[in-house]
Amino acid sequence: MAKPSLDYNSIEELPDHFWDKVNKTDSCWLWTGKIDDGYGRFNIKGKLYLVHRLTMAVLREKIIDGLVVDHLCMVRNCCNPEHLRQATISENTQKRKLNLDPTFCVNGHPLFGSESLTHISSRRTRHDGEDISITCKFCNSVKRLSNTLTEEVPA
Ligand SMILES: [Zn+2]
Ligand SMILES: [Zn+2]
Repeated sequence: MAKPSLDYNSIEELPDHFWDKVNKTDSCWLWTGKIDDGYGRFNIKGKLYLVHRLTMAVLREKIIDGLVVDHLCMVRNCCNPEHLRQATISENTQKRKLNLDPTFCVNGHPLFGSESLTHISSRRTRHDGEDISITCKFCNSVKRLSNTLTEEVPA
Protein backbone atom coordinates (compact mmCIF):
# COMPACT_ATOMS: atom_id res chain seq x y z
CA MET A 1 0.00 0.00 0.00
CA ALA A 2 1.54 3.28 -1.06
CA LYS A 3 1.78 5.79 1.73
CA PRO A 4 0.65 9.20 0.60
CA SER A 5 2.81 11.90 2.07
CA LEU A 6 0.07 13.81 3.78
CA ASP A 7 0.89 15.92 6.76
CA TYR A 8 -1.92 15.27 9.19
CA ASN A 9 -0.15 17.05 12.00
CA SER A 10 -0.25 20.37 10.22
CA ILE A 11 -4.05 20.41 10.17
CA GLU A 12 -5.25 22.66 12.98
CA GLU A 13 -8.97 22.17 12.87
CA LEU A 14 -11.69 20.49 10.91
CA PRO A 15 -14.20 22.64 9.05
CA ASP A 16 -17.96 22.57 9.51
CA HIS A 17 -18.46 20.70 6.28
CA PHE A 18 -16.30 17.94 7.74
CA TRP A 19 -18.60 17.57 10.75
CA ASP A 20 -21.65 17.68 8.46
CA LYS A 21 -20.55 14.27 7.23
CA VAL A 22 -20.09 12.71 10.65
CA ASN A 23 -22.97 10.80 12.17
CA LYS A 24 -22.19 10.69 15.88
CA THR A 25 -23.89 7.68 17.38
CA ASP A 26 -23.65 6.78 21.06
CA SER A 27 -20.50 4.89 20.32
CA CYS A 28 -19.03 5.26 16.86
CA TRP A 29 -18.78 8.45 14.85
CA LEU A 30 -19.68 7.21 11.43
CA TRP A 31 -18.35 8.91 8.35
CA THR A 32 -21.05 9.38 5.75
CA GLY A 33 -18.94 11.04 3.10
CA LYS A 34 -16.59 9.48 0.62
CA ILE A 35 -15.46 6.01 1.61
CA ASP A 36 -12.73 4.01 -0.03
CA ASP A 37 -11.72 0.54 1.10
CA GLY A 38 -14.02 1.00 4.07
CA TYR A 39 -12.19 4.07 5.35
CA GLY A 40 -13.59 7.57 5.27
CA ARG A 41 -11.74 10.11 3.12
CA PHE A 42 -11.90 13.84 3.23
CA ASN A 43 -10.61 16.30 0.68
CA ILE A 44 -8.53 19.21 1.91
CA LYS A 45 -7.09 21.47 -0.75
CA GLY A 46 -7.22 18.78 -3.38
CA LYS A 47 -5.71 16.03 -1.26
CA LEU A 48 -7.60 13.09 0.15
CA TYR A 49 -6.98 12.49 3.82
CA LEU A 50 -8.05 9.54 5.91
CA VAL A 51 -10.80 10.70 8.21
CA HIS A 52 -9.81 8.69 11.29
CA ARG A 53 -6.24 9.93 11.07
CA LEU A 54 -7.56 13.48 10.87
CA THR A 55 -9.63 13.19 14.02
CA MET A 56 -6.74 11.51 15.80
CA ALA A 57 -4.31 14.26 14.81
CA VAL A 58 -6.66 17.18 15.42
CA LEU A 59 -8.64 16.03 18.46
CA ARG A 60 -6.39 13.69 20.29
CA GLU A 61 -2.69 13.48 19.59
CA LYS A 62 -0.26 14.07 16.78
CA ILE A 63 0.30 11.24 14.39
CA ILE A 64 3.49 9.42 15.26
CA ASP A 65 5.62 8.48 12.33
CA GLY A 66 5.74 4.75 11.72
CA LEU A 67 2.61 3.92 13.69
CA VAL A 68 -0.75 3.05 12.28
CA VAL A 69 -3.97 4.50 13.60
CA ASP A 70 -5.92 1.47 14.66
CA HIS A 71 -9.65 1.13 15.25
CA LEU A 72 -10.37 -0.53 18.58
CA CYS A 73 -13.99 -0.78 17.51
CA MET A 74 -13.12 -2.45 14.19
CA VAL A 75 -15.45 -0.06 12.39
CA ARG A 76 -13.36 1.34 9.58
CA ASN A 77 -15.43 4.41 8.88
CA CYS A 78 -15.59 5.37 12.54
CA CYS A 79 -13.62 8.47 13.48
CA ASN A 80 -14.37 8.72 17.19
CA PRO A 81 -10.95 9.46 18.66
CA GLU A 82 -11.92 7.46 21.74
CA HIS A 83 -12.05 4.40 19.52
CA LEU A 84 -8.67 4.99 17.98
CA ARG A 85 -5.17 4.33 19.11
CA GLN A 86 -1.78 4.45 17.54
CA ALA A 87 -0.15 1.08 17.30
CA THR A 88 2.78 -0.51 15.61
CA ILE A 89 1.93 -2.53 12.57
CA SER A 90 2.71 -5.76 14.40
CA GLU A 91 0.49 -4.89 17.34
CA ASN A 92 -2.20 -4.19 14.83
CA THR A 93 -1.71 -7.51 13.11
CA GLN A 94 -1.70 -9.30 16.40
CA LYS A 95 -4.99 -7.77 17.32
CA ARG A 96 -6.43 -8.88 14.00
CA LYS A 97 -5.35 -12.39 14.78
CA LEU A 98 -7.01 -12.30 18.15
CA ASN A 99 -9.50 -11.04 15.92
CA LEU A 100 -12.54 -10.51 16.58
CA ASP A 101 -11.63 -8.55 19.54
CA PRO A 102 -15.20 -8.24 20.48
CA THR A 103 -15.36 -4.60 21.25
CA PHE A 104 -18.55 -4.87 23.22
CA CYS A 105 -19.96 -7.49 25.51
CA VAL A 106 -23.28 -9.14 24.73
CA ASN A 107 -25.01 -6.33 26.56
CA GLY A 108 -23.24 -3.60 24.70
CA HIS A 109 -20.73 -2.52 27.33
CA PRO A 110 -17.35 -1.49 25.97
CA LEU A 111 -14.64 -4.08 26.49
CA PHE A 112 -11.80 -1.83 25.45
CA GLY A 113 -10.92 1.79 25.84
CA SER A 114 -11.08 4.19 28.71
CA GLU A 115 -14.68 3.44 29.58
CA SER A 116 -14.31 -0.28 29.83
CA LEU A 117 -14.42 -2.25 33.02
CA THR A 118 -13.06 -5.67 32.35
CA HIS A 119 -11.03 -8.51 33.64
CA ILE A 120 -8.94 -10.32 31.07
CA SER A 121 -7.46 -13.70 31.78
CA SER A 122 -5.76 -16.23 29.63
CA ARG A 123 -4.89 -19.85 30.04
CA ARG A 124 -3.05 -22.29 27.87
CA THR A 125 -5.02 -25.06 26.30
CA ARG A 126 -3.94 -28.60 25.62
CA HIS A 127 -3.77 -28.02 21.92
CA ASP A 128 -1.11 -25.44 21.22
CA GLY A 129 -3.43 -22.58 21.91
CA GLU A 130 -4.48 -20.08 24.41
CA ASP A 131 -7.90 -19.20 25.64
CA ILE A 132 -8.56 -15.65 26.56
CA SER A 133 -11.57 -14.66 28.56
CA ILE A 134 -12.74 -11.14 28.86
CA THR A 135 -15.15 -10.57 31.68
CA CYS A 136 -17.33 -7.54 31.48
CA LYS A 137 -17.52 -6.21 35.00
CA PHE A 138 -20.67 -4.26 34.31
CA CYS A 139 -22.78 -7.34 33.77
CA ASN A 140 -20.39 -10.23 34.37
CA SER A 141 -20.84 -11.67 30.93
CA VAL A 142 -17.80 -13.47 29.61
CA LYS A 143 -16.40 -13.42 26.11
CA ARG A 144 -14.01 -16.11 25.16
CA LEU A 145 -11.44 -15.67 22.47
CA SER A 146 -9.33 -18.44 21.21
CA ASN A 147 -6.69 -18.28 18.58
CA THR A 148 -8.37 -21.10 16.74
CA LEU A 149 -11.19 -18.73 15.96
CA THR A 150 -10.20 -17.23 12.68
CA GLU A 151 -13.16 -17.27 10.40
CA GLU A 152 -15.46 -14.78 11.99
CA VAL A 153 -15.81 -11.51 10.15
CA PRO A 154 -16.20 -8.44 12.33
CA ALA A 155 -19.53 -6.78 11.78
ZN1 LIG B 1 -15.92 3.35 16.66
ZN1 LIG C 1 -21.50 -6.08 29.91
